[in-house]
Amino acid sequence: MALIVQKFGGTSVGTIERIEAVADKVKRFRDEGHDIVVVVSAMSGETNRLIALAKGIMDEPVPREMDVLVSTGEQVTIALLSMALIKKGCPARSYTGGQVRITTDTAHTKARIQSIDEANMRRDLSEGRVVVVAGFQGVDEAGNITTLGRGGSDTTGVALAAALKADECQIYTDVDGVYTTDPRVVDTARRLDRITFEEMIEMASLGSKVLQIRSVEFAGKYNVPLRVLSSFIDGPGTLITLEEDGNMEQPVVSGIAFNRDEAKLTVIGVPDVPGIASRILKPISDANIEVDMIVQNVGADNQTDFTFTVHRNDFNKAKAILTEVAESLGAREVRGDNKIAKVSIVGVGMRSHAGVATKMFASLSEEGINIQMISTSEIKISVVIAEKYLELAVRGLHSAFDLDADKNATGV
Ligand code: ADP
Ligand code: ASP
Ligand code: MG
Repeated sequence: MALIVQKFGGTSVGTIERIEAVADKVKRFRDEGHDIVVVVSAMSGETNRLIALAKGIMDEPVPREMDVLVSTGEQVTIALLSMALIKKGCPARSYTGGQVRITTDTAHTKARIQSIDEANMRRDLSEGRVVVVAGFQGVDEAGNITTLGRGGSDTTGVALAAALKADECQIYTDVDGVYTTDPRVVDTARRLDRITFEEMIEMASLGSKVLQIRSVEFAGKYNVPLRVLSSFIDGPGTLITLEEDGNMEQPVVSGIAFNRDEAKLTVIGVPDVPGIASRILKPISDANIEVDMIVQNVGADNQTDFTFTVHRNDFNKAKAILTEVAESLGAREVRGDNKIAKVSIVGVGMRSHAGVATKMFASLSEEGINIQMISTSEIKISVVIAEKYLELAVRGLHSAFDLDADKNATGV
């Protein structure tokens, strides 16, 4: 008998019928004798609906009130799922984050979990109940409701699994595992039997939203066995593992991630003197705008072009700040482009292979795609390209690195 934490995403609890189907699945595990803690998201579309309501009142809703609002989505699904379980003869009890006492810091809309009180959950489990917990939410020390950022129910699932030292955390979603790239974009994408935490963290942070980044970091840190599975069809899913699989030759590239959420800003003709980078970026960070890629290059005229990317939502704000900074620095011009996309190849196998970047750039050039920015780490290479070429680039790279399903029919 195992203790399993099962998390069901928005699509999986999107209708009453689907909630009933989730209850059947949970009950099957319970009937096999396992202890089950379930974490649920809001019904699909609900969190977006709530955010839109808030934005109908103010452009930048007060974060504390935003959390009170968006956390309601998950309160609906915990109650409905618990009712469905009870109706099917499976004792269950629902808990909000605050009722469990999932304590977080005070960073509203992007809070971090600090501690979890297991007492209520342990008592219910020992009394034979399924425990149903609202994902995505917690409370700070003062009792204010907080939320964990979009996709945060994954993190609730993993954090509960870590706190309870569960045997496995199962993330049930609308695809049957982690694929070489988003299967909704590339139809030859292939399900991976396993992927390392390290690769999954890169994939998630470079745009593959199948798991929230923090949930993977958490699982890696506390060594929580983590599996991504389909809510709708039975199958082995994808296991996120600590180690590379010693029995298999590691592919050079395990997956391709992409992100359409960024925008690019360039200050042209900045004098090449010490302190420029910080004078450009400090006002941006003071405005709470996160910067992702940065490229700086000194031209023959001893002037620097300084380019960086920000989240697309911050583009106008960042451009306005940069225009002021550029003036004070005597720079020539500020340019911006919010129709860009970032495409990244990820794989721990890159560490031991040369020529990966060359192959990536050759594949893009064969498709006639211009590379605007490049950044690399040990296990990933990212490029910024025009957004209109995104799908073409991902498909081309997917074939170039032998990831297509038909070429790998054995699944190796
Ligand atoms: P949930 O509501 O269950 O949390 P999400 O929409 O957050 O589901 O995540 C599942 C989605 O992630 C899939 O529908 C798929 O389109 C997308 N996705 C992006 N990259 C990948 C990938 N590499 N493998 C699988 N799914 C991916
Ligand atoms: N309901 C939240 C969201 O849509 C949390 C989650 O689904 O994981 O972001
Ligand atoms: Mg999700």
